[in-house]
Amino acid sequence: MQYHGALHKMSTQYGSTVRYTLKVGGDLLLMNALIGREFSATFLGEHICFCGQLVPEVYRQNFCRECFFTKPEASPTIMKPELSKAHLGIAERDLEFEQRLQLQPHFVYLAKTSRIKVGVTRGTQRPYRWMDQGAAEAAVLLEVPNRYLAGEAEVALKDYFTDKTSWQAMLRNDPCDESLENAWHHALEVLPQSLKQYVVDGPEVWSMNYPIAEQLLKIKSLSFKEKGDTFSGKLLGIRGQYLMLENGVFNVRAHHGHRVDLEIR
Ligand SMILES: [Zn+2]
Repeated sequence: MQYHGALHKMSTQYGSTVRYTLKVGGDLLLMNALIGREFSATFLGEHICFCGQLVPEVYRQNFCRECFFTKPEASPTIMKPELSKAHLGIAERDLEFEQRLQLQPHFVYLAKTSRIKVGVTRGTQRPYRWMDQGAAEAAVLLEVPNRYLAGEAEVALKDYFTDKTSWQAMLRNDPCDESLENAWHHALEVLPQSLKQYVVDGPEVWSMNYPIAEQLLKIKSLSFKEKGDTFSGKLLGIRGQYLMLENGVFNVRAHHGHRVDLEIR
């Protein structure tokens, strides 16, 4: 089977095993059924930016340079919620967009991979955010009415929990000795008083199981930089946004918009 077109971030469905769908051009591939098959992909040297334009180069986070510096979707508050100002009526790039995004319920959560991390997500993005990160377990700690408060809570909890995930440790499935329930109760104790009114009942722990036929021991990153770059190998599993192939891992989200030829045998 051959496919041709721009790669999209994989979409996920929550269930006893996470189900992945990959969009390549106009085709949707149900990835769980393709584990064990031989994949080969070649980069065509073109990239479709978020703005819909075909661009020769990605600047950062899959945006072209112009989009990265002008579009509200690429603004610094996306990465740093504590910088949010829409609740004060102050525009960063586009107040209407920012009000729509920021003035809605957000969750502050703890997620477990090889460590326990703190993170922020919009109400509508749970549990997709956790599956995208490849978390084994996650639990919401706070539900707050806007993005700014979520950022404030995250900053306070970063003194006690990391806000990063090690993708290598996640893909190796390094064990984590800490209990998410204990971490949740600990987070409640150290949370600033002003935020305690937003604590949810719980902890309600979500577990994520990923479709992995064979665990990788060594993690080598496969990526597309120049036209003609290629990789091939048997697909052993999927976790987070990573395709785990017998000879390396490929981060689909990091290649969102890259135009490829894909062959599956
Ligand atoms: Zn663009």
